[in-house]
Amino acid sequence: YPPERIRNFSIIAHVDHGKSTLADRLLELTGTIKKGHGQPQYLDKLQVERERGITVKAQTATMFYRRIINSSDINNEEQSDYLLNLIDTPGHVDFSYEVSRSLAACQGALLVVDAAQGVQAQTVANFYLAFESNLTIIPVINKIDQPTADPDRVKAQLKSLFDIDPEDALLTSAKTGQGLEHVLPAVIERIPSPPGKCDLPLRMLLLDSYYDEYKGVICHVAVVDGTLRKGDKIASAATNQAYEALDVGIMHPELTPTGILFTGQVGYVVSGIRSTKEARVGDTLYHARSIVEPLPGFKPAKHMVFSGLYPADGSDFEALNHAIERLTCNDASEYGARIISTIPTVPYIFEYSDGSKVQVQNPATLASNPGKRVTACWEPSVIATIIIPSEYVGPVITLCSERRGEQLEYSFIDSQRAFMKYRLPLREIVVDFYNELKSITSGYASFDYEDADYQTSDLVKLDILLNGQPVDAMATIVHQLKAQRIGRELVDRLKKFIDRQMFEITIQAAIGSKVIARETISAMRKNVLAKCYGGDVTRKKKLLEKQKEGKKRMKRVGSVDIPQEAFHELLKVL
Ligand code: GDP
Ligand code: MG
Repeated sequence: YPPERIRNFSIIAHVDHGKSTLADRLLELTGTIKKGHGQPQYLDKLQVERERGITVKAQTATMFYRRIINSSDINNEEQSDYLLNLIDTPGHVDFSYEVSRSLAACQGALLVVDAAQGVQAQTVANFYLAFESNLTIIPVINKIDQPTADPDRVKAQLKSLFDIDPEDALLTSAKTGQGLEHVLPAVIERIPSPPGKCDLPLRMLLLDSYYDEYKGVICHVAVVDGTLRKGDKIASAATNQAYEALDVGIMHPELTPTGILFTGQVGYVVSGIRSTKEARVGDTLYHARSIVEPLPGFKPAKHMVFSGLYPADGSDFEALNHAIERLTCNDASEYGARIISTIPTVPYIFEYSDGSKVQVQNPATLASNPGKRVTACWEPSVIATIIIPSEYVGPVITLCSERRGEQLEYSFIDSQRAFMKYRLPLREIVVDFYNELKSITSGYASFDYEDADYQTSDLVKLDILLNGQPVDAMATIVHQLKAQRIGRELVDRLKKFIDRQMFEITIQAAIGSKVIARETISAMRKNVLAKCYGGDVTRKKKLLEKQKEGKKRMKRVGSVDIPQEAFHELLKVL
């Protein structure tokens, strides 16, 4: 397959508009997967994705497609074979960099829009990502089988927002199959073939990586220029590490060794990379010792939200560490074991009177040194896009101003839908913003955001003290104006969730040495065993067992046991 016979494309969509279903139908149409193969959405591989119903990691698949063009003369039918690479992109708002890297390997994208719901926030965000990558965009209005489908209205929205010609839109139902026969021909006709050169030195874009128990780290790559053969020595532009290509092939959709990948192809390489930390999305891989310009657009992983993790039982540290190691090979966003996660925080910057600046990721480490006064602080912000039915404009404006948002844009995409842009502190959206937005708009709001710059802010460190001892896992940095309310609520909630113990407990919220809220929990008079009758050994045993079970969910701070639920409750305050 020379590059002229290859097409690399993505499907982009707002969540639930039918991206995965459409992808599955295309894989079926080309015989890449069998119809009714049992797994409803082949490309949503990771279990976390199936559980949450969202695509977190990009997965790609190669399809072989024979196009037959019937001319009027029956003996003169033309057929040509194409290699189509469907490059799946993460569908979640938190992965815009990964989306942009997947799109960098494509020349075109199917922009799927639900015929009833119309354009939503991620439709807008994804459109611009694709547009900025100079991709050919094929609008696909999906779910036309729904009784409330209104494709003409969606066409009008696409025209007014993106200047898309209504004539260009394909109408499909990934459910009934209607209109699907036009999709792949449009891909071939409208999307250009990959522009790379076969005779240039090898350059590959690293699209994704995951850990396989048997093969080790598997990298998905797009060969931009040159050829990759099994056995080649390759190197990473980001890390300067060298590897050997031990196995090379395509995803069809399972790993299918081919021993070679040509210019324009998308496939996988297994190269003895030990940890996915070494395999960074957007990295350029090339032949070791050859000199090439790295592909543009690489960004080293930037962590913007931090949360401390503590095992509920102190002796589980080893197990927790091990689990996290394994997890960072795939996705650190979900973890089923028993842990206590602290209040999420973002990297703040503090400047002191001596002119020094520090970035603070863990609020507990922000020193309260009297000799060093804080003279300025900054916090990261985001630009949020919100699309809502017009009747919800009022409550959404209220929510955004409570979250310290600044309105940047407010317009209408048609007679029923408002479009708003806000600058918001990142801190204000990491905890529950999206849930709250959904709840005040009866689920009709759609939301997306991109990172923006640091803004000056008026921040203070809020400590929680139990019996006079600060609890690191509960320290937080808050805006001055919210400190009093948050301190009060934290203390009230903790009082509800910490059980009485054998001694009195004082709970305090403090800024520096100033206590802003205080509660006490009085001591418990009897212990568990006091309830027992003298000789009943089984009952005694049972009670002790029960107490032990309960303890597993506790974290001990100083002498005070804090139940896991208390940490969850704290999150709700902020
Ligand atoms: P994604 O989040 O964009 O990947 O969306 P999915 O492919 O998971 O689809 C979301 C829901 O819409 C699923 O319940 C699908 O069965 C359903 N769906 C997808 N395409 C169609 C369609 O053309 N018509 C109807 N009625 N439902 C569809
Ligand atoms: Mg999906």
